[in-house]
Amino acid sequence: MSIALTNENYYSDQANADYMSVSQFKEFAGTLMHTACEDVALKNAKGLIPKIMTTPLLVGSYIDSFYEGTLGVFKKEYRDSLCTKTSIKAFEKSQDPNDLQLLADFKKAEAIIEKTTSDALFSEYMSGQKQVIMSAKLFGTDWKIKMDSYFPGDKIVDLKIMRSMDPIWSDKCRMKSDFIRYWGYDIQGAVYQKVVEINTGKKLPFYIACATKEDPTNIEIIQIEQKYLDDALAFVEQNIAHVLDVKYGRVAAVACGNCYWCRKNKKLKAPIFMSTIVPDNGHGDKEDPSVHEAMMSMMNDSDTVNGASQPANEFGGFGAFGTFGTFGPAAALTPYHLFGDAPTNE
Ligand SMILES: [Zn+2]
Repeated sequence: MSIALTNENYYSDQANADYMSVSQFKEFAGTLMHTACEDVALKNAKGLIPKIMTTPLLVGSYIDSFYEGTLGVFKKEYRDSLCTKTSIKAFEKSQDPNDLQLLADFKKAEAIIEKTTSDALFSEYMSGQKQVIMSAKLFGTDWKIKMDSYFPGDKIVDLKIMRSMDPIWSDKCRMKSDFIRYWGYDIQGAVYQKVVEINTGKKLPFYIACATKEDPTNIEIIQIEQKYLDDALAFVEQNIAHVLDVKYGRVAAVACGNCYWCRKNKKLKAPIFMSTIVPDNGHGDKEDPSVHEAMMSMMNDSDTVNGASQPANEFGGFGAFGTFGTFGPAAALTPYHLFGDAPTNE
């Protein structure tokens, strides 16, 4: 029997043990565009990893708490992280709140609030019922959701404070992804929509109200079309059984080997082969030998055509790359694949 959810216990270890949330699901299963680490997800679900309030998280919470109407409480609780040290000293002497000066990151948060509240459409979409909690049984587990701005019978809106709305490179799919699917906000929309539908019988459209930390702040209200929500719900349905098996200890969690916690705890047992770090370049086979062979053949071809060996990093040495068409799987190769590093951190 799952505990009854309140604002006080919503993020508690007990609530996370009893309920699946969208963020917990994404920690276990990743998103359509982004892989995850089951080992970290399991530790988080058990409350074994301390939650650290980093500055980017605090900036998001600052703006969240403004829209929740709890910014005053938030500012008191996190005063030491939000304000300059000298201004805190001055305040402690004078007890005058005007003496408190925000650090640059939170001046930015104030600017984001100013921008979003002065936009009529953004304000309208953020004017629903705040922090509405619902739960429902779905795909064999209890889910919990907390809506930022809920308009019963009309729409669901979630506030996102992003670094930017630029596309992000997806290593999982070897392509650029929109930030919505990369971070799984389509999954959030799909689950929120379904849980609300189970509770009320109404299937509501889902919107992201997005503001960026860029200077100046960029804003957008983005509706996630039903097609994307349906695909995201199918992704949840396909993965939930395994996620629950790992969460409840029936299947061992797999560590990704790459994330913060995996790197922190890494201990070497034996050397690895270079071929294990050769990227697949979209061929789906990490050790596809044809890629390497194609490169070697190109070098030999270029020797013949030009009558002399050319440095491999000069485009001229490889002619017009026309011969790539004859190498089977390597037909998809471009100079970019051979000489460029894939963008990783956009
Ligand atoms: Zn990991």
